Amino acid sequence: MQDTSRITPVRIDADRGAGTLRLEWADGHETIYDTVTLRWLCPCAYCRGEAGQPGWLDTNPKLSAEQTRLVDVALVGSYAIQATWGDGHATGYHTFRLLRDHCPCLVCARERHAHEAEHGGLR
Ligand SMILES: [Zn+2]
Ligand SMILES: [Zn+2]
Repeated sequence: MQDTSRITPVRIDADRGAGTLRLEWADGHETIYDTVTLRWLCPCAYCRGEAGQPGWLDTNPKLSAEQTRLVDVALVGSYAIQATWGDGHATGYHTFRLLRDHCPCLVCARERHAHEAEHGGLR
């Protein structure tokens, strides 16, 4: 059986004033995103591109305050959140796996780095 506690949030708090999204996971880990980082992670076809075509974020745009202002966060089934942004953009579903895999905390960043070193690239 696969352990899904790593990608199962038990709490999701959006603090619009502070501009952060905080997730508490079933395995006890805590992830805090600032909204700018979250906006850059938007996985939708418009931002990321599709069928080999680059998306809007691939053009390295300068994001405005409106574009990184988190207006609303909604749950999508039991696998993702949908963020609504100040500019009206709301087509991105950030899956829990994506949010956990990109957790910006020091521990996770170090783990990702160790993983990369282990799997070549740095030889
Ligand atoms: Zn998007
Ligand atoms: Zn982390």
